[in-house]
Amino acid sequence: MNNRKRILITGAAGFLGSHLCDRFIKEDYHVIAMDNLITGRLKNIEHLFPLENFEFYNQDVSTFIHVPGDLDYILHFASPASPIDYLKIPIQTLKVGSLGIHNCLGLAKAKGARLMIASTSEVYGDPEVHPQTEEYWGHVNPIGPRGVYDEAKRFQEAITMAYHTYHGLDTKIIRIFNTYGPRMRLNDGRVLPAFIGQALRGEDLTIFGDGSQTRSFCYVDDLVEGIYRLLHSDYNQPVNVGNPDEISIGDFAEEIIKLTGTDQKVIYQDLPVNDPKQRQPDITKAIKILGWEPKIDRAEGLKRTYAYFKSLSTEELNKKEHNNFDKYVK
Ligand code: NAD
Ligand code: UDP
Repeated sequence: MNNRKRILITGAAGFLGSHLCDRFIKEDYHVIAMDNLITGRLKNIEHLFPLENFEFYNQDVSTFIHVPGDLDYILHFASPASPIDYLKIPIQTLKVGSLGIHNCLGLAKAKGARLMIASTSEVYGDPEVHPQTEEYWGHVNPIGPRGVYDEAKRFQEAITMAYHTYHGLDTKIIRIFNTYGPRMRLNDGRVLPAFIGQALRGEDLTIFGDGSQTRSFCYVDDLVEGIYRLLHSDYNQPVNVGNPDEISIGDFAEEIIKLTGTDQKVIYQDLPVNDPKQRQPDITKAIKILGWEPKIDRAEGLKRTYAYFKSLSTEELNKKEHNNFDKYVK
């Protein structure tokens, strides 16, 4: 018998989940990875399969979940996360943010485990306060196309806080702002893989709207460090974690063109409905409570991420779909 802490990570085969698996394995935890592979890929975690302190359950978190043995921590990260994904699978998105978290909270209560949810800057919607502080309640259209994601995440925060208040469960809420890095799916529709994929395939870069909307991009290793610190803190209120270095999407496209050396142009397409006009985290709380600040600037993060995308095979680069929607969605 060993004394390893046992952690359940849902959404473990996804972009962030797989990096979390790596981190907790590195810290010598016993990692129980759960995923139904709807937008994730086993390839992201297959290097961990030979380890004795890693196990994988192919399981839909929105149905009943059972994990034998003790559990010290649960990270609920399962959820479609890109606008294209949650537009294509809206019901699954709502379910994993409601039924899925309810199952995880029940499991945490039964096991006496500490639980963290992956919330998002999308709880602020198209924000009228800039930069966004945790005190801002947001500006969300509940019945707009993005509502399925935003409202699921807001419900997730509400039920998590209720379990904390009424059952005394030790819960953490992290509000993650746009994060990027290796293992993002090339055509998951998010702006960074979209632009890099287009540059690598010799296609024009598609800017939605006039490119004046802003985002603030955080490199994945910085986010993982923030998650690790918040999980081990005694703080139960929501905390923003992201990189406040804000850039317009138009300028971001120019950076990608320089980075990749492509001679492609940018082309303009319609702005998706309810696309937030601006987004920048106020990270005062994370600095004060967690002693956390991002360390990897965009130039370095983009270099590392580009190296990953460049290493993919031509077949992968030209694949139409990088998800399992057909298999899982009836
Ligand atoms: P991702 O799509 O790469 O990973 C999500 C994973 O969850 C996938 O492996 C998918 O198969 C799995 N999943 C979805 N529904 C499931 C279900 N019902 N049961 C089991 N597994 C299921 O996305 P990501 O970027 O890694 O996002 C991970 C989490 O972080 C999500 O909850 C997302 O909302 C949150 N988040 C991410 C960002 C970001 O910038 N990457 C920003 C804010 C919040
Ligand atoms: N975007 C774009 N071209 C693309 C993909 C996205 O101009 O090919 C824009 C999108 O409209 C949004 C921003 O880039 O304003 C970030 O989009 P993403 O899907 O990465 O994440 P969001 O922050 O909107 O959830």
